[in-house]
Amino acid sequence: MNKDLFKQIFKLIKNYDEIILARHISPDPDAVGSQLALRDSIRLTFPNKKVYAIGVGVSKFKYLGLMDKIDTNSITNALLIVLDVPNYSRIDGIEDISYHDIIKIDHHPKEDIVGTVDFTSSKYSSACEMVAELLLNTRLIINKQIAEKLFIGIVSDSERFLFKNTTAHTFEMAYKLVAKFNLDTFSLYTSLYEKSFNDYLFEAYIINNMTITKNNFGYLVIDNTIFDKLKVDSASASIVVNNFNFIKDLLAWCFITYDAKNEIYKANIRSRGPIINEIASHYNGGGHQYASGARFINKEDIEKIFNELDKACQEYKEHENQ
Ligand code: AMP
Repeated sequence: MNKDLFKQIFKLIKNYDEIILARHISPDPDAVGSQLALRDSIRLTFPNKKVYAIGVGVSKFKYLGLMDKIDTNSITNALLIVLDVPNYSRIDGIEDISYHDIIKIDHHPKEDIVGTVDFTSSKYSSACEMVAELLLNTRLIINKQIAEKLFIGIVSDSERFLFKNTTAHTFEMAYKLVAKFNLDTFSLYTSLYEKSFNDYLFEAYIINNMTITKNNFGYLVIDNTIFDKLKVDSASASIVVNNFNFIKDLLAWCFITYDAKNEIYKANIRSRGPIINEIASHYNGGGHQYASGARFINKEDIEKIFNELDKACQEYKEHENQ
C-alpha cells in the first residue's frame, strides 16, 4: 500500500483553500466518477475549502453528479488534481485556470503530466480503484454516495471485472465499498448498463458489417448515417467496442467514427493479446495496452492504422504458435 504517498496527498489537499479537479476530455464513468467522488470527499472533509470539478458535463452520466460552473478569474492560488489522464493535451477545461501544485492520480502509462505528488500506476484497473484506496486509508471522508461513484467507475473500467486489468485488489476495493456502505449494486448496474433497443440495433449493425482478417483483426468504418437512423449517440462506439472481448475469432478490433463537427476521425481500439497503445500513439492517440483510442484528420490514416493493427495480430499469432 502507498501509505507515504497518501499522507503527502492528504497534506497537499489540507494546505490549499482552492482546489480544482479535472479529468480527460470525452469522459467515461471512471473519469467522472473518480473526479466527483474525490471532490465530494474533500468538500465533506474540509467544508470551508472551495472545491470545484471542471470540464464539460455529459448528460448520460448525470446520475454520477454534476460539474461545477466556476469563475476562473476568482481562482488565484489553486491546487489542481488531475484524474484518469496522463497528458496535458487531453485534460478537459484547465486552459484558463492558474494553479500552483498538481496531484496526479492515474492508471494510464506515464506521459507528460508529472504531479507535485504523483500517484501513477498501471497496476490499477481504474482511477476509481485508486481513489477508493486513497479514501479508505486516509482521513478523507467517504459516504454512501461517494462509494457508489467509485464502485461504478471500477465496474465500468474493468468491464464488470472481465478485463485483464482486474486484480485481487480491484475485488478488494469493490468488496469494501459494497460491504461498508451497503451498496445496492443492482440499481447501480441499471444506471450504468440500461440501454435502448436501438443501442442493441447499433451493436447488431457493427456485428453485421465488421470485417475480420485472416489474422483475426476486426475493423469497421462506421457509416455516420446510422447514428441518425437509430438515434444513438456517436459516442456509443466507445461503449459497444467493449462488448467484443470474448469473441474467439477476434484478437484486436477497431472502429472508426467521423466527427464531422471537428473534422476528425476517432478510433476505438481493443485487444485480447497484441499491445495496441503504441500503435495508437502513431495516430495522435494512446491509452492502455489493451484499450486505446486515437484521433486523426487524414482519411488515409484509416487504412494505415488498420494495417498496423492487423500486422500486430499477425505477429502475436506467430509468436503464440512458436
Ligand atoms: P475509448 O476507446 O475512447 O474508450 O478509449 C480507450 C482508452 O484510450 C481510454 O483510456 C482513453 O483515455 C484512451 N484514449 C482514447 N483516445 C485517446 C487519444 N486520442 N489519446 C490518448 N488516449 C486516448
